Amino acid sequence: MPELPEAEALVRSLRPLLPGYAFDRVQVLRPDVLRVPAREFRQAVSGRRVTEVGRRAKNIVLTLDSGAAHLVVNLGMTGALVPLGFPEVEPPRPTHPALRFFLGSGRSLVYDDVRRFGCVEFLTAAEWADRTRRLGPEPLSAGYGWQSLHQGLQASRTPVRNWLLDQRKIAGVGNIYASEACFRARVHPQRRADRITEEEAKRLHRGLRQVLRSAIRHGGTTLRDYRDASGEPGRNRSRLRVYGREGLPCWRCKTPVQRIVFGNRSAFLCPSCQC
Ligand SMILES: [Zn+2]
Repeated sequence: MPELPEAEALVRSLRPLLPGYAFDRVQVLRPDVLRVPAREFRQAVSGRRVTEVGRRAKNIVLTLDSGAAHLVVNLGMTGALVPLGFPEVEPPRPTHPALRFFLGSGRSLVYDDVRRFGCVEFLTAAEWADRTRRLGPEPLSAGYGWQSLHQGLQASRTPVRNWLLDQRKIAGVGNIYASEACFRARVHPQRRADRITEEEAKRLHRGLRQVLRSAIRHGGTTLRDYRDASGEPGRNRSRLRVYGREGLPCWRCKTPVQRIVFGNRSAFLCPSCQC
């Protein structure tokens, strides 16, 4: 499932293409990716101009008409935004188009989603402000220091891995990068959040930012489906140190990496390095 780095990599590949284009017409092929009736969505979106391409948490956010409204795309498991007709990129044809935004001069933007767990929403400025307020801070933002992380952890008794996955506590972190950050910080993913020491919070803060930044630099992690706007998979998978490496030697100490399941999700860790 795409997390912060994958959404960010996709945003960076779309940003040079989309601003300035208006949605001439919208075709709804699979209304189940919408939260409102297709007709309502088409009416709300048609005629709007994309003025900015950004990201909040794991969502791709197209600012419309300089902030009057937003198109918020949650990629779910297999969602992708595919720009068609742009000479700069040549992505493969979408296989499961759900929405098609016609941009004029033969160009369009397709929301493609094989499994359709993703969701595309039109939000007014007020609705967007309310939505973004409910999300936790961005871990890569300048103002998010280790003290903010430590403070947040102090207020919760949940296992630290679960805390990291909670979008209201911190935005954009999913299962892959939560495991990777705990490994870098040498913190066991099941440790109670409020028992993380200052020293550990510093390491977790640094580890989290490192794994997210490195993943963005390498175009995100593709386990199966994720592609950027050119149809390119991410190159970060080989850089993962614990996630998906059950039984393989720990990158630091050679102890076999363990997979444990709690809260219905897997976590990967080194039983010697992380306590
Ligand atoms: Zn180890």
